Amino acid sequence: MARVLVVEDDQFVRSALIRHLTDAGHAVRSVGTALEALREVAQVGFDVVILDLGLPDLDGGEALKMLRGITDVPVIIATARDDEAEIVRLLNDGADDYLTKPFSVEHLSARMTAVLRRSRAGAAGAEPPSRVIQVGGLSIDPLRRQAELDGTALDLTRREFDLLAFLAGRPGVVVARKELLAEVWQQSYGDDQTIDVHLSWLRRKLGETAAKPRYLHTLRGVGVKLEPPQ
Ligand code: CA
Repeated sequence: MARVLVVEDDQFVRSALIRHLTDAGHAVRSVGTALEALREVAQVGFDVVILDLGLPDLDGGEALKMLRGITDVPVIIATARDDEAEIVRLLNDGADDYLTKPFSVEHLSARMTAVLRRSRAGAAGAEPPSRVIQVGGLSIDPLRRQAELDGTALDLTRREFDLLAFLAGRPGVVVARKELLAEVWQQSYGDDQTIDVHLSWLRRKLGETAAKPRYLHTLRGVGVKLEPPQ
């Protein structure tokens, strides 16, 4: 059972969603405007929000940004627009997933289950593993969020640290960009460039280049792996 907020101005779609989600055992509330949605999430705790992009009062993208200003609740965008650039922008602005209308109830349920699993795993995993990861001269302490290379502390951003810790946790294993996106960025869809940019920043902080890799090895079209220098 999940507490679901449906934000949808189309009365027909809204009733159908409420009926199906209630039948599936969820506790559902619904509103028809972005401002009502903001008021609801400020007052009631939800597990997931299903947000229609075409609302009468605010553009869905604006509504999402305002929601993100007050809550971390998972948001699934429901959109009639099949515009890849906009979907990428919304995911970068904090949407957790999206569905293009018309979608089936089964499809919505599957996405909801996945989003809830991720957010619950995130909450349960709030205590990171205490084990210090050691790969060659790299030492990564997930609990203290500190990383060292050959005894010198690395000054990493949150994302760079997560990326390094994830790759170092499975040394020698080639990880696909898609998996990095899902595991480090917690997105099911996005732009490979985002990953490449973060990888290049991380690489610079490790004092290496793509042409002369030591720890970080990119396999074109396949993915990336981290392993101790040979
Ligand atoms: Ca609408």
